[in-house]
Amino acid sequence: MSLEQTLATRSGDKCELCGSTDGLTVYEVPNSLTDGADAAVFVCGTCNTQLNDADNVDANHWRCLNDSMWSEVDAVKVVAFRMLNQLKGEGWPQDLLDMMYLEDDVKAWAEAGLADENALVHRDSNGVVLEAGDSVVLIKDLKVAGGGFTAKRGTPVRNIRLVLDNEAHIEGKVNGQTIVILTEFTKKN
Ligand SMILES: [Zn+2]
Repeated sequence: MSLEQTLATRSGDKCELCGSTDGLTVYEVPNSLTDGADAAVFVCGTCNTQLNDADNVDANHWRCLNDSMWSEVDAVKVVAFRMLNQLKGEGWPQDLLDMMYLEDDVKAWAEAGLADENALVHRDSNGVVLEAGDSVVLIKDLKVAGGGFTAKRGTPVRNIRLVLDNEAHIEGKVNGQTIVILTEFTKKN
């Protein structure tokens, strides 16, 4: 039996999140340790679109999680947990999260999918994402406090490190000294 058939049977041919029967498809739950049906949810077109596009989420649609968060299927609970976290600023999703119960291993799986969203994103002056090990160029003369020198505009800084608790700061070596640099004064090379 194909994965799709397995899920269709499990779900009774409807979206395991909202119950719709339109545009049913397989949603593979990210950050799963297993694969196959245990790591997938049968979802409708509306749920699938919103699961794949965090900028295009209609919070009211997800009131359906009020029911589906009690599913017997771990993968469904994981998706519900993540979506409720994404929407918790609305208030009611936080109330549902407070009621939700996940076994430890299921909770770890659910939380594994949250880490990326909470991580800070460092961007250069053009909004380009910076990663550890990247090279940048200074776009402004920077007086290095305590260093006794000015890092000139145009100075390349190789192999940068990200300051993990501050998305506006990176670290890199200039003149043999490791200095903190504001990302807004850098351009990725
Ligand atoms: Zn749905």
